Amino acid sequence: MYAQSDRTLVCADCQQEFVFSASEQQFYADRQFSEPRRCPSCRASRKAARGGSGGGYSSGGGYSSGGRDRGPREMFSATCSSCGREAQVPFRPTGDKPVYCSDCFQAQRRSY
Ligand SMILES: [Zn+2]
Ligand SMILES: [Zn+2]
Repeated sequence: MYAQSDRTLVCADCQQEFVFSASEQQFYADRQFSEPRRCPSCRASRKAARGGSGGGYSSGGGYSSGGRDRGPREMFSATCSSCGREAQVPFRPTGDKPVYCSDCFQAQRRSY
């Protein structure tokens, strides 16, 4: 019996540090998974985003802005679904779609 210790990894999506606990390491080792590259919240949101729609990641659709030429866009505060930090988004967060801060949004786009 040997004790592993928790490790701190950096999420590939949001660059937040997260704990890869000893028990998780054991879980992954048992299944011969490679170690996670994303924090639990990013993994959950990616899984949710993927949910059944064949690979296409579509944003937009929920935009309810009236006109295009109305001066500066109104920004709304939301909590990033990926890293939990505060995000500024140009549409009103409805709660039924994930919202990403600019960092996480770019990280998502880059990985596709
Ligand atoms: Zn993350
Ligand atoms: Zn974020």
